Amino acid sequence: AVEPGRDFIRDIVKADLDAGRVKGVVTRFPPEPNGYLHIGHAKSICLNFGIAEDFGGRCHLRFDDTNPVKEEQEYIDAIKRDVQWLGFDWGEHLHHASDYFEQLYAWAEDLIRAGKAYVDDQTPEEMRVNRGTLTEPGRNSPFRDRSVEENLDLFRRMRAGEFPNGARVLRAKIDMASGNINLRDPVMYRILHAHHPRTGTAWKIYPSYDYAHGQSDAIEHITHSICTLEFEDHRPLYDWFIANLTVPSTPHQYEFARLNLTYTVLSKRVLTMLVRDKHVSGWDDPRMPTLAGLRRRGVPPAALRDFVKRIGVAKANSTVDVGMFEFSIREVLNKTAQRRMAVLKPLKVVIENYPEGQSEELEAVNHPDDPAAGTRKIKFGRELFIEQDDFMENPPKKFFRLSPGTEVRLRYAYFITCKEVVKDAAGNVIELRCTYDPATKGGNAPDGRKVKATIHWVSARDSVAAEVRLYNPLFTKPDPTGGEGFEKDLNANSLEVLSDARLEPSLAAMNVEDAIQFERNGYFCRDKESAPGKLVFNRTVGLRDTFAK
Ligand code: ATP
Ligand code: MG
Ligand code: MG
Repeated sequence: AVEPGRDFIRDIVKADLDAGRVKGVVTRFPPEPNGYLHIGHAKSICLNFGIAEDFGGRCHLRFDDTNPVKEEQEYIDAIKRDVQWLGFDWGEHLHHASDYFEQLYAWAEDLIRAGKAYVDDQTPEEMRVNRGTLTEPGRNSPFRDRSVEENLDLFRRMRAGEFPNGARVLRAKIDMASGNINLRDPVMYRILHAHHPRTGTAWKIYPSYDYAHGQSDAIEHITHSICTLEFEDHRPLYDWFIANLTVPSTPHQYEFARLNLTYTVLSKRVLTMLVRDKHVSGWDDPRMPTLAGLRRRGVPPAALRDFVKRIGVAKANSTVDVGMFEFSIREVLNKTAQRRMAVLKPLKVVIENYPEGQSEELEAVNHPDDPAAGTRKIKFGRELFIEQDDFMENPPKKFFRLSPGTEVRLRYAYFITCKEVVKDAAGNVIELRCTYDPATKGGNAPDGRKVKATIHWVSARDSVAAEVRLYNPLFTKPDPTGGEGFEKDLNANSLEVLSDARLEPSLAAMNVEDAIQFERNGYFCRDKESAPGKLVFNRTVGLRDTFAK
């Protein structure tokens, strides 16, 4: 059941079903395999697959593979993996526009025979100039009135590979004076001598998006063809092809606003350049807005689905604050991630009154809101690490954490007091000499005395070393340049590597992508680059809340 008013597309689908205009709903998600999917695609995936789920219909995954120059098998494989990871299943309906090349070709010949398509020999530049502008009508091509026979002959020879790239195109013969430039004899086929991942070198001509898309929808009996707003002006063309061809069904196109996020670029062209020019380590770099990057960063698919639901579906473009996405990530991880202690920038603490060579086990809670998550044992001993930031030699007034002479609580352990600061020759603090109060075991003093801060820690001897990677936005501006010149808005500090973090030993056995909270430091996951003896963790997102700072 769908809540009424959830979004305007669901309202349309429901009205069409109620009125019997369609017997069942069929949608499709139609990526072009020329890059990895990003968070904007997640919006489209959740919408298309979500509508099919909500109304008991089906959603196809269709590769819009009509441009072999930019398309690769790697992208096809990645897209399938990412859609499944998001939690959706196309069942038997994995399709490719290239499956329809023969049918699309036959329909193009039909249009030629009906006098509604022609082969144009103008150069791309002549075509551009003669297309006109928003205020000026276009001019007819000198080749517009070729005979059906000549058009058929030339089109067949285009297919046979007789002409070089760019020599000719097939155009629909609609109206060069139309107020809608998309209707000024749009290109249906171009010559491309290129290797296609699926059809190899069988084809020397490839259909345009506008010609292939609607007809592919019709072949698959798609009822609601949902796309982003920039295709609104293409809808009359979409409808023109459907009306002028003998297609097996009548799909309709609906447009919604694409997702834009602050501090983020979602243009595939720019994402491709980020990878190609090595501004990032690859498509799955955890700073990338790609689904592969977000997955590697530790973002759970449920957070993406939650986010998409929260932002809704609108008819006007807008930009969503990336903080809203982080909110969804925290919402999900707060419930699912177990807690552990990890010290990102260690400072050694020696407990002078704790017996040398001894240690003890303390009990720590795995999840404060979920008793079923149980507890674990953590080792306490004479030598510990705390966070460098939790100590200040000369603290300002509001600093309640450790400083000379003050007492703080070590989470799950004891109260400690800082007695002495040890420095190296350069004056850097390298060690704190502290005492503990054995009577405060578990974190409370029998005499009722209070401390103002609780800090996390790990045992020096029993912790494991790790590299921890912190991520900041890839771009410095809330609205980065999304095209040419995007480099100037790149954030030079988008990656911060902490090379000697210390973790509770149980973290060494974690699976890649399992979420964990490092108390007070945020949500983390183990990175795929971890190797035996070299643990690597990614910070997924920081915590908004920190306890008793
Ligand atoms: P680009 O223009 O950057 O290459 P695209 O939109 O052409 O991206 P496709 O692979 O063709 O990428 O997109 C597949 C589907 O995902 C399309 O239906 C498209 O409308 C949708 N989509 C792409 N980007 C967004 C976005 N930012 N928000 C919502 N939907 C999107
Ligand atoms: Mg595109
Ligand atoms: Mg596209």
